[in-house]
This record gives sequence, structure tokens and C-alpha cells, in this order.
Amino acid sequence: MSHPFLAAEDQLIANALKIRFYPIAVQSAKGTRITDQDGKSYLDLTAGWAVAGIGYGHPRISSKIKISYERLSFTSQLSAPEPTMLSLAQELVNMTPGSFPKKVWFGHSGSDANDCVAKLVPLAKKRARMISFMGSYHGQTMGSLSLSGHPAQTRFIGSGNVVKIPYPNPYRPPFGETPRLTEQILQYVEQEVFRTICPPEDTAGIIVEGIQSDGGLIVPPDDFLPGLQELCRRYDMELIFDEVKVGLGRTGKWFSFDHENLVPDVVVLGKSLGAGLPISAVVAKQEILDVGTGIHMFTASGNPVSCSAALENIRIIQEEGLIERARVNGEYFLKRLKELQAKVEWIGDVRGRGLAIGVELVEDRVTKAPAAEKTAAVCYRCFELGLLVFYVGIHSNVIEITPPLVISREEIDLAVEVLDQAFSDLAEKKINMDAVRQYAGW
Ligand code: PMP
Repeated sequence: MSHPFLAAEDQLIANALKIRFYPIAVQSAKGTRITDQDGKSYLDLTAGWAVAGIGYGHPRISSKIKISYERLSFTSQLSAPEPTMLSLAQELVNMTPGSFPKKVWFGHSGSDANDCVAKLVPLAKKRARMISFMGSYHGQTMGSLSLSGHPAQTRFIGSGNVVKIPYPNPYRPPFGETPRLTEQILQYVEQEVFRTICPPEDTAGIIVEGIQSDGGLIVPPDDFLPGLQELCRRYDMELIFDEVKVGLGRTGKWFSFDHENLVPDVVVLGKSLGAGLPISAVVAKQEILDVGTGIHMFTASGNPVSCSAALENIRIIQEEGLIERARVNGEYFLKRLKELQAKVEWIGDVRGRGLAIGVELVEDRVTKAPAAEKTAAVCYRCFELGLLVFYVGIHSNVIEITPPLVISREEIDLAVEVLDQAFSDLAEKKINMDAVRQYAGW
């Protein structure tokens, strides 16, 4: 189990950079599978944190980036942008809704893209405050962590100018059981937040995840995001969608806001955009991204190699029909997991859209007490059985399922079988809890 590679990692790599839940010394990856240095193969339901949308090691990406690198390995922003960056910007402008003048900003991670939002939106609106959601994950840099409401970020000092409001969680409604979840939250914003610490005339915008992923894979009620858009329009605030995790086909549409035909003012992209190469983008109203020259600029932003990977990635998603595939296979996966829920008392809720699925574990379906230790145990056992899943949520009790969009029916069946086995092993106390605690960092 303990590979020398892992010991070297312990010695050399900053703890600040890792949550190493699985002790895997990775050798290679292809499609939906990762292989370790001993030759063991794992089905990866995390897609490397939703990066491998089209799967690992796609041959079309590798040939494109080679050609791109050989043509032009790099160009700085001192010269006019080269054609790949322009083509990608045009593609992203065309893919996002809204007929207003739009521009594109490029970075390397979801964090720097959300830093762009934190810096430029208040500046452009001449309003100092923003609203975001409790449980949201927007990044680890200072601006993006200020926008975040996830416990991983709220322990740091960030900007006090971002007010966090409850996310509409149908399974754990923030104001108690009610059929009026959307109305209650929107009313809370208008009647409490606006009248106390965050007046609308001083609020630049609201940033939201269409499905709150790291916060617990929470799917809001259908009327919530349209209601939020209406609120933003009424008070002339910008509506910002962070699509870093669930964008680019994962939910069964290009973007999560396409399900309700919404038109955000700002769209943030990252993770799967570069199919593994570092690239992020903000697509926004021109006046936001033009508020200052050179004020949010990084040396390698929009580099030709990452841009060529992103362009090819978009073409692959289209040409391989991966959006429809995510929708259809997502429905199947959800159905199979609901069958498992009927068998396993600890599964309190199963929810999702396309291939963004959450399985929430509770000690008891009535009290809904979060079962964090059981969640870590099931994930760990799945790992031993050759299936990679990880947990999310402010209570760390939601198994997150975000596989590559190319996952097959057979692989979904296999994944459900392994989960079923892991739950049986948990019930029969066959899981090595010391190992679980060690890897979960408890
Ligand atoms: N936004 C969302 C919705 C995310 O899920 C994440 C990462 N989990 C980020 C932003 C941050 O992205 P990165 O890790 O690339 O900085």
C-alpha cells in the first residue's frame, strides 16, 4: 500500500496543496479509468474533481496541444493575441446566452477567475458589496475565498463586503420545512439583508452555483434561479453564475442556467474547460471586463496551448454528443442510486441533474443527523474496491458523483454494485476504520 512515491510526496509537497484521501501512486489515466503504479485500475467517479469531462487522455487533445506548442509555445500579452485565444473567446461568447456586448477574460483556475469577479464587478458597478451563498465554493485565493461560504474558506479572513445568504436546500430547508423555499429566501434578501447590512444600491451582484457542488451537491428548486435573476434585474445587480464545476455539459445542457433559459451577466468557467490543461474564463458584459486596463492580468493567461485544448474540448463535447449522453446516463444513474436508497437506510437523499449527482448519508432518516464518518468509510471502501468517489458538503456527508461524461451504462452498473458492496461492508463492520480516519485526516 505504501509506495515510495507517496513517501516522497510527504517529504516534498506542501500540505497546503493537498487533501490526499486516497493513497494512490498514479501512473496513468485513460477515459474513465486511472491506473496506479502497481497496475491496479480504478473507475474514477470524480473525474479528477470534474476536470476530465471528456475523459482522461483524449487523443484529439494530445495531438492538438502538440501542434499548438510546436507552432507557438507562448506569446505574452504585450503583443496582439494570437488566433487561438481569439477563436476560443468567440466560441465562448457564442455559447453563452445574451445579445448584449460581451467580452472574455482568461486565467488558469476557478479561483483566479472568481478573483476577477470579486475585483471587477464591484469596480464596474461602483458598488462595494456582493452577495453569495452559505456553503458555496468559489476558490482559495483572497478574492474568491471572500465570495465563498464553504467552511473550507470561511475560516480565513476575507472581505467583509460579501454577505452570505442561505442556499435553497430542499432536503435541509434553511427556514424549516416549507413548500415556499424560494419565496422565503428571496424575501429574506429583500426584507432582512437589504434593509440591514447590504443595501441594494450598494450591492454590485449575486454570485451563485446553479447546483451547489462542494457545499453538498444541492439542486435548488426549479423556480429559485429564475427568481434570483428577477431579483437581480429589479435592483440592477449583476447575476453571476459560477459554472466551474457543473458547466460544459455535465448537467445535460451546456450550462446549469440553460435548464431555465436564464441569461447571466457573468459566467465563470474553469476545471473541465482545458480538458486537463490549466485554463479558466470569465465571459461577461463588456463594461465589467473593460473597467480598467491590465488590472487583472497574469503572465500565462490565454496561452495558446491551453486555448487550443479548450477549443478542441468544446468540439469534442459537441461531436461526441456528450451533453445528451450526460443527460440520459445521468437519469439512469440517478434511478439506480434511488434503488440503492430503497435498500440502504443510511441513504437519506439522492439528487442530481445529468452527471452531477449527490448521495447524502444520515444516521437516521427522521432526524437527518449527518453521517460524516460513514460517508468517509464508504468512500474509502469503494477506493479499496477500485472505485473513486469523494465526499462533499458542509457536513462532509454527501458522496459526490461527477464522472467523466463518457461513462458507459456498464460502468454505472459496476459503480452501483461497488457502492452496494461498500454499504454492506459498513453494515457488517468490515471496513478498516483506522485507515479511514487516517486518510480522512481525523
Ligand atoms: N468554483 C467552483 C464552483 C468550484 O467547485 C471550484 C473548485 N472546487 C472553484 C471555483 C475553484 O476552482 P480551482 O480549484 O480551479 O481554483
